[in-house]
Amino acid sequence: MGVRTRREYIESLKNQKPIVYMNGKKVEDVVENEFFKVGINSIAITYDTANDPNYKSLSTLRSPLINEDISIWTNIQVNREQALTKTKLMRVLGETLCPCHYRCLTSDCINTAWAVTYEIDNKHNTEYHKRVIEIVKNVQRFDLVIGGAIVDPKGDRRFSPAEQEDPDMYLHIVDRDDEGVIVRGAKSHSTAAPYTNMLCVFPSRPMKKNERDYAIAFFTPVDADGIKFICKSPPIPEVREEERDMENPISSRFGHVETTIIFDDVFIPWDYIFLCGEYEFTGRILQIFNSFHTWHKCGCRCANMELNIGSLALTTYYSGIENAPHIKEYITNMIIDAEITYACALAAAIEGNKHESGVYIPNRMYGNVGKIFSAEKLGEERFFLQEASGGIVITMPSERDYKNPETGKFLKKYVKGRVGTLADERVRVIKLVEDLIASKWAGWYWGMCISGGGTIQTLKERVFADFNIEKVKNRARKAVKL
Ligand SMILES: Cc1cc2nc3c(=O)[nH]c(=O)nc-3n(C[C@H](O)[C@H](O)[C@H](O)COP(=O)(O)OP(=O)(O)OC[C@H]3O[C@@H](n4cnc5c(N)ncnc54)[C@H](O)[C@@H]3O)c2cc1C
Repeated sequence: MGVRTRREYIESLKNQKPIVYMNGKKVEDVVENEFFKVGINSIAITYDTANDPNYKSLSTLRSPLINEDISIWTNIQVNREQALTKTKLMRVLGETLCPCHYRCLTSDCINTAWAVTYEIDNKHNTEYHKRVIEIVKNVQRFDLVIGGAIVDPKGDRRFSPAEQEDPDMYLHIVDRDDEGVIVRGAKSHSTAAPYTNMLCVFPSRPMKKNERDYAIAFFTPVDADGIKFICKSPPIPEVREEERDMENPISSRFGHVETTIIFDDVFIPWDYIFLCGEYEFTGRILQIFNSFHTWHKCGCRCANMELNIGSLALTTYYSGIENAPHIKEYITNMIIDAEITYACALAAAIEGNKHESGVYIPNRMYGNVGKIFSAEKLGEERFFLQEASGGIVITMPSERDYKNPETGKFLKKYVKGRVGTLADERVRVIKLVEDLIASKWAGWYWGMCISGGGTIQTLKERVFADFNIEKVKNRARKAVKL
């Protein structure tokens, strides 16, 4: 198979039986449930584009591992060219309007597992890498989507896993035998998990010597016994589809379900485990994952920034102010931000390193800097969009009022902007801006940009640690002849 279609991805979900809860009820079928549609559609974008002649050359490549064409999202990245191709794809995917297709996690997880197991085996004579190769072959052959289940609930942040009042605040091993291990705990904030094909689970912080039972990393099917998904509904519009045509053009199509995953004594066979007790590699997993994930985030954020730029240009066109100096300045600032973010993604791809396992790992500094920068700039983008579009983004009555003959005739008259354009056109653009900056979806996206992929504070600490401060101090010394 190598490259699946949207239909094949959805069929695969129908064959899984995960235990899922949402809004106080059990969800019997995620494919048929209305709350899962935007999330499944978002992931399906990667299957559409891999089969679309316009994107195929960026989205697919030959795998030496299974000797078939595969999706770039299941590839073990081996060189700079592949990293550059992916960077370009991430930007171009903005054309699909999908702000988060979540396929980056598949790539982050398999490349991280590939590289770290090579290091662990070298030190401990273990056999993890062989297992990961078999898993990756399967992921490539069936073009699977993987959910990243990393962040633990963490309890009282002052205490490490072994010091927590409740030992389950970090996922850990509670039993083991010749067949595998039993794990207990939870993973918080897992995006899209119930409509992925497989989870990749690993510790959310470096573990210490006395925390070997917390040093556990594995893949698992989503419907393994004991796994339960407690979901938050996605930020979709409250108004039913039949009554909506102009409103929520993004959030009615794209978005994600967020999940707390419960591991209620789940059996994990040894074949799925890629770290067990080697606590000194838990920090290393996070480092490699971080290098991939923040690089991916830069690509997606740039694409979203471009949509914001286009929306600002359009909304100001319809109100007749697109040539005002301050609007040009807003747009210029937004272009600078988008291009800096993309430049960080490009730099991470160009300045990566070939790992001894063969994986080409993007440069962590540029990915982290771009991710922090673009998260901090989101507030400014929204400020520009709001300021330039005016109060109407927040005060415009609903589409139902606009279409009601009694009220619509007045709204049409008073909402109209630029001479020679239709009120309908302006309303559509206003509703787009509302969706981008003032909807339920906008709140979700805001949280994802700031907290998703690691706290900004954690990333800043990595930036500081990765920078050679002594080198520049010496330069300053040299300047003053010290
Ligand atoms: C929309 C969204 C999607 C996400 N998707 C995924 C996903 O698919 N998979 C996944 O695994 N995770 C996912 N995450 C989780 C994300 O990685 C975490 O939110 C992030 O790592 C922060 O962890 P936290 O939320 O527990 O915040 P906290 O750890 O509570 O952090 C909040 C603040 O506390 C500070 N802090 C924490 N501990 C300490 C300490 N010991 N000392 C001092 N300060 C401290 C932090 O620096 C930060 O400033 C997602 C998050 C969001 C919002």
